[in-house]
Amino acid sequence: MARHPKTMRALVVGPEGIGVREDLPRPLAAPGEVRVRVLRAGVCATDLALARGYIGFEGVPGHEFVGVALDGPLQGRRVVGEINAGCGSCSRCASGDARHCEARSVLGILGRGGAFAEELSLPAQNLLPVPDAVDDDAAIFVEPLAAALAVLEAAPWTPGQPALVVGDGRLGLLCAAVLREAGLEVDLLGRHPDRAERVGGGIRHLGRPLDDGPALRRFPLVVEASGRPESLERVLGWVEPRGSLVLKTTTERPVALDPTPIVVDELRVIGSRCGRFAPALEALAAGSIDPRPMIEARFELGQAHRALEWAARGGVLKAVVDITGP
Ligand SMILES: [Zn+2]
Ligand SMILES: [Zn+2]
Repeated sequence: MARHPKTMRALVVGPEGIGVREDLPRPLAAPGEVRVRVLRAGVCATDLALARGYIGFEGVPGHEFVGVALDGPLQGRRVVGEINAGCGSCSRCASGDARHCEARSVLGILGRGGAFAEELSLPAQNLLPVPDAVDDDAAIFVEPLAAALAVLEAAPWTPGQPALVVGDGRLGLLCAAVLREAGLEVDLLGRHPDRAERVGGGIRHLGRPLDDGPALRRFPLVVEASGRPESLERVLGWVEPRGSLVLKTTTERPVALDPTPIVVDELRVIGSRCGRFAPALEALAAGSIDPRPMIEARFELGQAHRALEWAARGGVLKAVVDITGP
């Protein structure tokens, strides 16, 4: 039995800022939901935006996690969880697409407490068991890797085709690794030429993209994952006529975009957010993609606010919060 069964420690974003609290109510699992004891959680750009006040967020952030199911059919097993929880009764939910349910909650992002906490709760069907071959550090990458794998479902592609990934941050590197594993010839634009090796190499790094970057040829497939709003307009010029641009970057403010190249070159511009977890778990278990070298810093839950501060500095990769530590 926990000493304080009704409360827990968690990182909280609120009107007074961000900090770790000891007295947060433990999540009550709604019918059909399962409580999860969180082991480890990763910090991502979305968490940093939420901490800055994006979409007026208040509550516990964090959505990249591995934990142990406390009840339900996977009780006692290590699990990861898809982060979108649908209403269960609308037509989108009925067709298995809770990701686009209009009444959805999203773990640590929208209407549902997140993973920088001792416990969280998710619908039972969102949870997947983690194979033994995938350790806790690898498992926290299931959510961003699933988002990267979604690129392959978003746009047409064929093996051997050239592709360009714009941005060599956390998500850009995973997108580049996914395209490489699918057999595409991947060029990567970013500020950190050494980083292609972090996801196993086999990716050509072209250097800086935006200000003084090289004049580029055009590509049939371009993935924009820089997180930089000013990049959006420039990337349109790097897509071949009739080619595809997959957008991964959300901006906290509206940006101006000239639609002319989209119309004249008949580009396909496709938004892409989350992906399915099962293929991501398979890729990690097979070892074809190993994102663990991207981890650069570790923090205990009591220092989780420091993890977000650290991650908000430019030029750093993954920060991990160990929930079970002191
Ligand atoms: Zn994320
Ligand atoms: Zn629904």
